[in-house]
Parts: sequence; structure tokens; C-alpha cells
Amino acid sequence: MHGRGIDSFDAMTNLPKELRAQLAERFTLAFPQVVERTAPAADGSQKYLFLLRDGNRIEAVYMPMGDRTSVCLSSQAGCAVGCTFCVTGFFGAGRNLTPGEMLGQFFTIQHEHAVPMEMMNVVFMGMGEPLLNFEYLVTTLDVLYRNLAPKRITISTSGIIPAIDDLAKLERRPNLAVSINAPDRRRREEIMPITKKYPLQELMAALRRYPTERGREITIEYVLLAGYNDAPSDAVALAKLLQGLRAKVNAIPFNADPNLPPWMQRPTDAAIDRFVDTLVRNGVAVTVRRSKGREIAAACGQLRGKSEAPKRRRTG
Ligand code: SF4
Repeated sequence: MHGRGIDSFDAMTNLPKELRAQLAERFTLAFPQVVERTAPAADGSQKYLFLLRDGNRIEAVYMPMGDRTSVCLSSQAGCAVGCTFCVTGFFGAGRNLTPGEMLGQFFTIQHEHAVPMEMMNVVFMGMGEPLLNFEYLVTTLDVLYRNLAPKRITISTSGIIPAIDDLAKLERRPNLAVSINAPDRRRREEIMPITKKYPLQELMAALRRYPTERGREITIEYVLLAGYNDAPSDAVALAKLLQGLRAKVNAIPFNADPNLPPWMQRPTDAAIDRFVDTLVRNGVAVTVRRSKGREIAAACGQLRGKSEAPKRRRTG
């Protein structure tokens, strides 16, 4: 069904007619319901809010990038990890999404924009921690692999060490992106409480033993918070942390949000440039996500967050 892009039982002409009728009687083939679709931003990106059958709402983002297109998918209907800079974390835990719900986001966006499959890339960087939904994630990957090579799929994790080791054992592995966000254990634990369980040095050891394929590298995500982790000295410390690791840094200037602590702000462009230049001078490859989707609240959980009453307000 997914390999051939079929969206009705009638189209399954390789099955006997009777069986097709029985399938149609007992099962439903449907895309998830889109409840909100933002207008395209200046860079063409668009955010989708989906309503699931049990009332949960999840987000996905369409990001055209010239000759390729990326879609950012959610893996859970919330997140228990609780990163303090993240709106999804602010709203708390949610259940695991099924493979059908993850694939539904992908195929809805791919169909709507009629993107040829060979242009598609997938990143699991929306709501949720994909490695805490490992079993369903692996099933979802197996279906995606019918159309997409593993190197066109990226799993973004907050650093769940045992699951990174499990991912390493898979025969076909997607790209790995890891959210680091601070060059030392103290600050990382401050803004990512789960890292008390999975400390920075142990995570770095797991990344060093991770079998990265030839021609690929691990992406280190680093959310830049003004005056907190954006100093040139932080860039030097980060470069030191990454020494000997086949990795590139993706610097993500923070998106301010009314649900998050007011001290968390986006650094100035000059501060971002200083941070990036220092990394480069210290031999680290780096990309900056300048503005993709900033105007459509593309950071994870922000669209859902706009339409939900806060459960609690953060002051710290
Ligand atoms: S950044 Fe990712 S892992 Fe952290 S709370 Fe948000 S969704 Fe969860």
C-alpha cells in the first residue's frame, strides 16, 4: 500500500475483488484530519496541526528546500522529557503515536504538495522523543524505507542512551541527530532535566561507539539562548567536547514563546555569528537554522501551544 502510494482498497487490483470488498467493510484507509494549516512562510514552509481519533493534536512541518523537501514529523502526542526551552515539553507527556499516525503525517504532506518521493526527506524532530517510542518507530522506518533510503531519514533525540545503543544494532540505520544544547553537564541538566538520567559524558561515549556510516555524520543540535549558552567560550567548550567525533553542529536560535520562561530569548544576529565563527575556527562544521518557519511558530509544539490553555506557567 505504501510502496505503491495506494489510498483505497479498490486500487489494490492484485487482490481478489471479494477480499477487497471484505477489507473495505472492516477497515478504513484515511489520512489524518488536518485541523489547521498555516499559510506558507517566506521560505515556503508550512505547519500542519492534525487531529487524531482520540482527540489528541499533533504537529508536522513541510519544508521545501530547492531540489529537496523535508517533513518534520511528531512521534508522540506530547513529551515527558520536559526540556525547559520547548513548548511540547511544557505541556507534558503524551501517548506514543502508532506507525499509522506517524506515516499519516508524512503521506498527507507528500500528497498535498505532490512532492516526488525521490525529493522527500524525513526528520523526526516534531513533538515527542522518538527513541521513547522505539518499537513503533522501527515499524515506521521499515515502511518509509520502501520509498526512502535510510540516509534521507533523521531521528532527533534528546540523548536516550540505551535506545541509541539499540538503534546502533539495526541493520539499516537512519541519520542520528542529538540535542546537546550546552557544553557542560551542569547547564545541560538545568535545561534538559532528563540528562540527569543520561549524563553528558556517558552520552558522548555512546555517540563515539555509534557506527556512523561512511559519508555520514552525527548532527549535534544546539539551541542558542541569549546570554546562557551563546558565548564564544561556550563554542570553544563545545568544539572540545566534539573532538574526534564525526559530527556537525546545527545551531538553532531559540524561538521565544509566551509559555516559556521570559529570560529565554533569541540571541542577536551578531552573537549568533560570533558563536558560529568560533566553532568554525575550532574546526567544527556548523549550519545555522536562521529563520525557517520562525514566523509560523515552527518550533515543536508552538502551534498546538497557541491554542491550548497552559496547565502551569514556568517562572524559572
Ligand atoms: S525538545 Fe524534544 S525531547 Fe525536549 S521536551 Fe521538546 S519534544 Fe521533548
